[in-house]
Amino acid sequence: MEEGNNIAKVYNPDEVESRLYGKWEERGYFKPEVNPEGKPFTIVMPPPNITGQLHIGHAFDGTLQDILIRWKRMQGYQALWLPGTDHASIATEVKVVEAMKKEGLTKREVGRDGFLERAWNWANAYRGRITSQFRKLGASCDWSRERFTMDEGCSEAVKEVFIKLYNKGLIYRGNRIINWCPDCKTALSDAEVEYEEQHGHLWYFRYPIKDSDESIVIATTRPETIPGDSAVAVHPEDERYQRLIGKKVLLPIMNREIPIIADEYVDREFGTGVVKITPAHDPNDFEVGLRHNLPEIKVMNEDATMNEKAGKYAGLTRSEARKQIVEDFKNLGLLQKIEDHVHNVGACYRCSTTVEPITSEQWFVKMEPLAKPAIEVVREGKTRFIPERFEKIYFNWMENIKDWCISRQLWWGHRIPAYYCQECGEIIVAKEEPKKCKCGSTTFKQEEDVLDTWFSSALWPFSTLGWPEDTQDLRKHYPNDVLVTGYDIIFFWVARMIFSGIEQMGETPFRDVYIHGIVRDAQGRKMSKSLGNGVDPLEIIKDFGADALRFTLVTGNSPGNDTRWHMEKVEANRNFANKIWNAARFVLMNIEEDILQKEEQAKKYWISADKWIISRCNTLVQEVTDNLEKYELGIAAAKLYDFIWNEYCDWYIELVKPRLYGEEKESKIAAQYTLVMVLKKTLKLLHPFMPFITEEIFTHLPGEEESIMISSWPKFEKECTYKEEEKEIEMVMSVIRSIRNARAEMNVVPSRKAKVIFIATNSAISQILKKSEIYFQKLASASEIIVKTEKKEIPENVVSAVVDQVEIFIPLEDLVDKEKEIERLQKEKENLEKELKRVNGKLSNEGFVSKAPFSVVEKEREKQKKYQEMMEKVLERLSFYQR
Ligand SMILES: [Zn+2]
Ligand SMILES: [Zn+2]
Repeated sequence: MEEGNNIAKVYNPDEVESRLYGKWEERGYFKPEVNPEGKPFTIVMPPPNITGQLHIGHAFDGTLQDILIRWKRMQGYQALWLPGTDHASIATEVKVVEAMKKEGLTKREVGRDGFLERAWNWANAYRGRITSQFRKLGASCDWSRERFTMDEGCSEAVKEVFIKLYNKGLIYRGNRIINWCPDCKTALSDAEVEYEEQHGHLWYFRYPIKDSDESIVIATTRPETIPGDSAVAVHPEDERYQRLIGKKVLLPIMNREIPIIADEYVDREFGTGVVKITPAHDPNDFEVGLRHNLPEIKVMNEDATMNEKAGKYAGLTRSEARKQIVEDFKNLGLLQKIEDHVHNVGACYRCSTTVEPITSEQWFVKMEPLAKPAIEVVREGKTRFIPERFEKIYFNWMENIKDWCISRQLWWGHRIPAYYCQECGEIIVAKEEPKKCKCGSTTFKQEEDVLDTWFSSALWPFSTLGWPEDTQDLRKHYPNDVLVTGYDIIFFWVARMIFSGIEQMGETPFRDVYIHGIVRDAQGRKMSKSLGNGVDPLEIIKDFGADALRFTLVTGNSPGNDTRWHMEKVEANRNFANKIWNAARFVLMNIEEDILQKEEQAKKYWISADKWIISRCNTLVQEVTDNLEKYELGIAAAKLYDFIWNEYCDWYIELVKPRLYGEEKESKIAAQYTLVMVLKKTLKLLHPFMPFITEEIFTHLPGEEESIMISSWPKFEKECTYKEEEKEIEMVMSVIRSIRNARAEMNVVPSRKAKVIFIATNSAISQILKKSEIYFQKLASASEIIVKTEKKEIPENVVSAVVDQVEIFIPLEDLVDKEKEIERLQKEKENLEKELKRVNGKLSNEGFVSKAPFSVVEKEREKQKKYQEMMEKVLERLSFYQR
């Protein structure tokens, strides 16, 4: 009986969480080896950027993964959650450049080696920050296997893949149109461009036709690229322009002749049906240019200023050039009109600068042959998206995929393993610098560019397991079981992991892709610095505990959908934790230490209430397990909450008290045993969601297991289903509820006991009511109960209610002192009459109603309504007593 006194009176998450996390890590519980016999189960963590701090999105993503991995570990799997970080090429480079700027230094001044030294120092200093923050969340990932996209092994994997793809002809260097960020001064892949609708203009310009008085009118949204025009184009079947095809126009402002060509790409409905073709500055025009062998005239520099090819516009920024060119056309009388136009403009995902489509020498991955099998595995169900609707988005992207531009004009990242012979220009792709070229030269220069950050993260499901080495981890944990990630990186990352996995490993990298949404504020807005509506998960952990944070993030959420953050919810979940704590303390203080050894003895004396909670708990085991299988984590959490709060704490503990405090030894043992057994099972089910409090309680409960984390997941047991007893106790509960309601309506305090008379015609129900007398006494303030089969000799003044097949009567005199109550009601009536007179007077005053502000009048009307309603109730009660 003294056992319970060891447990702290108040739950202190701060102290408990750091202590328990340390214990788990020290004992090696996060390693898959903790279950050496089990089948492997693997999740690789989407690597957070080393530049990052734990934000609410990480906390959400991490919680979902941790729930799955803890659950599988308890089911006996060799569960591996492999953590790591991403070098975040652009993001990190931007940070390091900013830091150097403060010292008055530029990249060029410090040089590549000097820059990389600074970048590595920065990376080493910050890498630990985000991982230590993940620890605070309770993330049970195996830190002994932690990886970094630029560690030795991952870098080796990157080189290996690059060389293999190059040798297969799937990586090539070419002059292609790419998205260029003039601010970051690097190429970007299509996925790195964010499109936004903008209100712009459509300019109609006249281009004179050579050797004629006629002209042709083109429509464009980008006048600044006119100096780069190589042709104008019409649709081959457009009758308006048939006779002009093959002729030439004189490009105004540049005084250059360009041909009128016919190409099916032209949309006859757009503008005048004639468009200018600028192959060096538009992806579609680039394709047209290839088909018609047009010259590419690049008129912009790396910073998007105009270059010498732009003639007199050289040196202007792109927007200055736009203004000047429009002005010049106007002065030449060649501007026909300007229309408003809404179009999509692409911006750099890092710095939001408008990207410039530009032709450039870059490295590309040929996508078509890689995309095909990646589409297949999803079609064949070898990889499932949860929810399924994301498959459509995936297919749409993959079926229309363009070659992937993988070179970046940055220094921080994996430098492309290509070497240029300084004599003959031969490109040699190899892991190390070659000794000698076939031309005999021994001087080489390595490619300056680095690879797109996502090139290395695309290999994450196998590079982290040791590939290209044939390791035991690789054989055991590839393919991974589930990837948990947000819908915003399906293209950047998920798609690329799928085709990389198939190409390098011959097998899709994961069975399931569990997609989640983002965390929004209470009003449904995105969290952002500018709105100041962000939530810092570390603050929440400090104030409410990691368990409350986790439970808040997961409840109410379903796969693929965004979730909303409500501060009240986290408070409610902290209260939930306290409720569990108090219940556990109660249990601990009321059980014998060796109670779990008394199973056989206890079973013999189980009564309906015990069987009811055992059966309900058993159903819960099945439902929570089913929900987890289906990734319905939010539903599982809600069921756990309801069961623990209502059924276990508010009902079972109350139902069991008379026996715990009573004299019957056997019944006491049965009650104690059930209390502990159900609590233990429930804690296990709750553990993946609230790992800390469940462990802390578990270690105080009797039993042999050393930690809940590595204890076994409860199984559904058919023999623990007691349908009859469930029905019985549920009926008793609803009778108690209606007695409580009736008393509450009469303002009766719980300490005032009252007789309860039941009429039940069904004899089974009568029996149940009779044997449940103690519950009605303890939980419904019944002084005694009388069970009758017919409505005879019921007192005249009673309060009544009906539940299912039971009629309930409570004599009025037991509940209230009639005279006193009438007196009280009379007083209330008088007060209300006064109030009503005042408010009615005000509202019948024309002057008040017409002059006072609307809201003030409205408030008076509300008062009037409220008083009238109260008055009706008082009169009703009075007539009830005065009958
Ligand atoms: Zn940028
Ligand atoms: Zn050579």
